[in-house]
Amino acid sequence: MTTEPLFFKPVFKERIWGGAALADFGYHIPSERTGECWAFAAHKNGQSVVQNGMYKGFTLCELWEHHRYLFGQLEGDRFPLLTKILDADQDLSVQVHPNDEFANIHENGELGKTECWYIIDCEKDAEIIYGHNAKTKEELISMIELGEWEELLRRVKVKPGDFFYVPSGTVHAIGKGILVLETQQNSDTTYRLYDYERKNAEGNMRELHLEKSLEVIEVPSISDRHTIQYEQTDDLLTTTFVECAYFTVEKWRLTGAATLKQQKPFLLVSVIEGEGRMISGVNINTFKKGDHMLLPYGFGVFKLEGRAECIVSHL
Ligand code: ZN
Repeated sequence: MTTEPLFFKPVFKERIWGGAALADFGYHIPSERTGECWAFAAHKNGQSVVQNGMYKGFTLCELWEHHRYLFGQLEGDRFPLLTKILDADQDLSVQVHPNDEFANIHENGELGKTECWYIIDCEKDAEIIYGHNAKTKEELISMIELGEWEELLRRVKVKPGDFFYVPSGTVHAIGKGILVLETQQNSDTTYRLYDYERKNAEGNMRELHLEKSLEVIEVPSISDRHTIQYEQTDDLLTTTFVECAYFTVEKWRLTGAATLKQQKPFLLVSVIEGEGRMISGVNINTFKKGDHMLLPYGFGVFKLEGRAECIVSHL
């Protein structure tokens, strides 16, 4: 058992649609086209690393493989979650993810992907694509064949603090000018449905995966049914956005001091605003915007002090 939070060093991904906003979190980003910060990542395409304490230098994968007690001896062949912050300077392509069953069969044992978004910041009038308007599969196919994208795709205006649950099978895209924290199943399986007919510098379009997309898109579109719950503990307001089979995601708003207990197999805490300190056992750790802390199994009672906002996830 350890009562010290594990701070993770993220992995950054350059993307053609990325920008420079992740520098505002205090990160040294690789370029002005940095699209993704993989904060808690135990995937072959990116591994975040512990940067403090007795587990310093270990990847999240290694902890999952060899120190499973940190996660309450949870079962599973891979760490279940992936947390990212995305900076979209351009529109992302329109995508859909398969569910576990489809991905297992068609993507070599990969997991499906259900994800969700917390809008950290965005430009005025920023929009996402969230669902579609086809009532039947036939209508979906015909609208795609006729190129009726404007009629097909549902656009939703967003503002900071909004939350969207994106189950597998949902057509979706993050629009330009949006900074989002994404919590998802630990998977990188994406089918690109539409890319606005954009061409790269060489005049080529990115590959689309129309056939697989059509197989996995839910028709009619799934409506967002999550109910938001609030709970006040001392000076901490917890907003629970979603509790589903894959994850629970909540926001902590700290405005002073609060004493909490970690009773889950693990908690992933991403600080998106402000700063403070955490007192746990004999440890006192300061935290600030841009930090990502894993509180392991058996972490016990801890105290938070400061003014901060965090996005927190667990199973
Ligand atoms: Zn996605």
